[in-house]
Amino acid sequence: MAEPGERRTETGAAADTFTEAAAEAVVATADETAAAEDDTEGTAGAAASGPADSAAATDAAAEPDAAIDDAAEADIADVAVVGAGPVGLLLACLLVQRGLSVTVLEARGQSSEHSRAIGIHPPGIAVLAQLGIAEAAIAAGTPIFRGEAWCDGEMLGALEISEAGGRYPFVLALPQRDTERLLRDRLTELNGGVNPVRRGIRVTAVSQRSENVELTTKSAHISVGAGSGADAASPRRVLARYVVGADGARSRVRELAGIRWVAVGQAQPYLMADFRSGRPPRFGGGDGGGSRREGGRLAATTALLAFERGGVVESFPLPDGWRRWVVLTDRLWHEAVAADLAGIVRDRTGIELTTASATAQERARTDESLSAFAVRQHRASRMAADRVALLGDAAHEVSPIGGQGMNLGWLDAAALAPALELAVRGGHELGARALREYDLRRRLAARRAVAQAAFNMQIGREARGARLGVRNALVRALGRPPFRALLARAFTMRGL
Ligand SMILES: Cc1cc2nc3c(=O)[nH]c(=O)nc-3n(C[C@H](O)[C@H](O)[C@H](O)COP(=O)(O)OP(=O)(O)OC[C@H]3O[C@@H](n4cnc5c(N)ncnc54)[C@H](O)[C@@H]3O)c2cc1C
Repeated sequence: MAEPGERRTETGAAADTFTEAAAEAVVATADETAAAEDDTEGTAGAAASGPADSAAATDAAAEPDAAIDDAAEADIADVAVVGAGPVGLLLACLLVQRGLSVTVLEARGQSSEHSRAIGIHPPGIAVLAQLGIAEAAIAAGTPIFRGEAWCDGEMLGALEISEAGGRYPFVLALPQRDTERLLRDRLTELNGGVNPVRRGIRVTAVSQRSENVELTTKSAHISVGAGSGADAASPRRVLARYVVGADGARSRVRELAGIRWVAVGQAQPYLMADFRSGRPPRFGGGDGGGSRREGGRLAATTALLAFERGGVVESFPLPDGWRRWVVLTDRLWHEAVAADLAGIVRDRTGIELTTASATAQERARTDESLSAFAVRQHRASRMAADRVALLGDAAHEVSPIGGQGMNLGWLDAAALAPALELAVRGGHELGARALREYDLRRRLAARRAVAQAAFNMQIGREARGARLGVRNALVRALGRPPFRALLARAFTMRGL
């Protein structure tokens, strides 16, 4: 039963907790930009598949809703973080570092081994440095110092990442599972050896009271294995002063808070896989029928953007001589196998990915990494509503093609942590102001990141005839001063 004066949102009920009304009270004065967005109702849920997984996978194993009972735990955490993806984990670290008590609720019984994000940009490395794990990440990853844009075997332009300046003059490539492992270990360390992540716990309802927020949970599944959270028992009710939705693009917290999910642009389908390259791949050949004046080997620390007639081919170095390959496809190609992706790369660029010398283990890793995805970009109409805040993919879904969702989420976390500290220590009014500022600043950053990713997706489309000429001229111009410095800043996420 809801208590007097309490507003409650239950699964399936109209989202009236933290509704637009509550949100408006918080952000009323400064939300003209969102008002326009709110007129455009976004479709909830991305067209993503494959790597863009979410807790939905755990639903099958879920138990019925747990009723709230009086025996449920009564401890109040300063902040409950919903979701232990890379963004939720990083935020939890920053909050614990500030001395706040944090509980992290995660629907998955075990962390995902699937690696989506690989690129950690300089501002992201700087946030890891705040946590004291930048050096460990750098030691485990591989640096990308340069990006090259090609078409038809001709280099259109090159970008030295160091041109953007700063303490970390490179993009660090590290598979997401390794990044998450570092964050998990650091979180336990910062929290005095106690892991605050409760796994197998799905949040189903959020109720706000004047002093705190109550989360209703159900047990997603009970089995807890290696790397699982501290407490296998399912809490029925969790109390916290503030709640943060770090629960991914299909965020339940966002939905329960009545915050709209605004779709931006169209989805584009891609195919992605990791291949071991014994020696750096050589350019040449391909489907374009163009001039192919140049060609050569890709250095092990160079990212490739091949803007070919049939669509973009992207390649990024990974640790231990591996590379990630991503190609634009003409449909969401679920049934594709690794050889299909290799065939597209060969046809478009002449680069040979599959080698007879690949071991069975290497081929298995390639097959495992293969995924088809089509991400449609989205933005939440608000990132804070009273005692609820959103960040990461729950707040903005950015295309991975040139978009940098995890890094953007980390920058959200770096802005949200001090705002939450102020809210917890300084009282509700100060907190409301801090969260309003967070909402405004980070929505602006998300808007820029989404626009930048939309531009990248656009120039990566298939192009022939006049369009090809114009597109290549544009890419060449971007590779020259004065645009080059701007491009370096944009590519390294300065200003976000
Ligand atoms: C192919 C691909 C490549 C990418 N490459 C990059 C890259 O190189 N660099 C980059 O910066 N970004 C990249 N991204 C984006 C990046 O992967 C995401 O932005 C990032 O994973 C978002 O992290 P998150 O913690 O916000 O959300 P998620 O990683 O989605 O984590 C959300 C967590 O919340 C849990 N959860 C959901 N609902 C509930 C609930 N009700 N209760 C409890 N728990 C719940 C889920 O189980 C999940 O663990 C890429 C994305 C894709 C698809």
